[in-house]
Amino acid sequence: MADNPSKALRVILFPLPFQGHINPMIQLANILHSNGFEISILHHQYNSPDPSKNPHFSFHVIPGGLSELQSFQGDTLALFRFLNFDCIGPIRDCLGKLLSTHDHIACMITDANMYNSQAAVEDLGIPRIVLRTTSLCSFLAFATLPVLREKGFYSDDLDSRMEDPVLELPPFRVKDLRAIYIKSLDDTMKSISTIVQGTKTASALIFNTFQDLEEPDLANLREHFPLPTFLIGPFHKFFSAESSSYLTQDRSSISWLDTQELNSVLYVSFGSGATMDQKNAREMAWCLADTKQPFLWVVRPGLVQGSEWLEWLPNEFVEVISQRGYIIKWAPQQEVLSHPSVGGFWTHSGWNSVLESICEGVPMICSSFSGDQHVNSRYVSDAWRLGIKLEKGFEREEMESAIRKIMVDGEGQEIRERALRLKEKIQGFSSQSLNALSDLIVSFKSSRV
Ligand code: UDP
Repeated sequence: MADNPSKALRVILFPLPFQGHINPMIQLANILHSNGFEISILHHQYNSPDPSKNPHFSFHVIPGGLSELQSFQGDTLALFRFLNFDCIGPIRDCLGKLLSTHDHIACMITDANMYNSQAAVEDLGIPRIVLRTTSLCSFLAFATLPVLREKGFYSDDLDSRMEDPVLELPPFRVKDLRAIYIKSLDDTMKSISTIVQGTKTASALIFNTFQDLEEPDLANLREHFPLPTFLIGPFHKFFSAESSSYLTQDRSSISWLDTQELNSVLYVSFGSGATMDQKNAREMAWCLADTKQPFLWVVRPGLVQGSEWLEWLPNEFVEVISQRGYIIKWAPQQEVLSHPSVGGFWTHSGWNSVLESICEGVPMICSSFSGDQHVNSRYVSDAWRLGIKLEKGFEREEMESAIRKIMVDGEGQEIRERALRLKEKIQGFSSQSLNALSDLIVSFKSSRV
């Protein structure tokens, strides 16, 4: 290790306190640690990671308003604004303390949505790198929305043309990008502009994605974000998300999968934050029952509004489950997706889930609930052709047809073959890009001493 110049350097990382943001940040921390860096994790007290699962890091809690945080559920951008406002003082204090006790801090890496941290690090004289935990294509789509707005994209004229293509941003349809904004258009655009600006002023940008997948959009990204950019995903091929899961993974699902036939099971999971109403949940249940396909369904407590867990489920459905379904609260998702019995993944199109599915060559059925999920699902179906996007929400006929196409008909097999070809190109994370990132981090410190 003596000849590794990065050994003594420390990197501080701050994830947003949500599963889909914590997982990639902790995975990135592990990747950097295995490359010789010391790691400090600053984290919110909400959804705190368990330090005992990563004892090689130092953890520092950032106190914050818990009740306010919970009251913003469903309005992600308002939640991000609150976190930026609420956490900035404590982050600055914590950074100040770390700087006074460690003389070898190289930089801070924060989630792209923590734009206010830029001011804090600038005051303290350390560089900030942004980790974008979503796809590159969705980041570009978000960054282009204010420009589209100026061109009249949100005018009433387009209200009746939701299925039309967005010519400036293929393969999107008007409805995909219209679905991104929440509540107030002005607030949404302001938040997006602030996040984009906060990214442009950072010292570098990291994506949890890989070049073979997102190459076509890379030139466009470099034109609009002329800062050092590193595509070093998929992180989970190097470090599993298990150590940062704040829900207990039910491992009985793996024993159940062991009893099923090859490629026969549809895995259904909508991630850590999505919620749905009871009517849609029941439609899904009946659709799973009618298609007669074995299924493993993650019903996270809180997924179905107004219920603790499965109270909304009709009794007749429970009989179906005993024959060919298995319902759990939270899965060891990576292991499930790599299990030979799993033949399809009905996902909410969160970026980590999409990436994990792509890496295992599993065809997808894509629902989408909010934000980048609308963008990811369009790319999965129309650009990468690795799945089918449900265009009508939870409409029975469309859901059943998608399940048949993916699990029974030739379309699923074609998608699987395409996905497997892509899977072969993934070599873990890109070591060339990672080495370049390590060199940049080392250069930050040497330019300041
Ligand atoms: N996940 C899991 N078990 C589950 C469902 C999800 O471990 O039953 C993990 C999944 O592997 C992924 C993360 O939770 O790493 C979800 O992130 P994603 O970006 O897909 O969605 P979000 O939760 O942010 O909406």
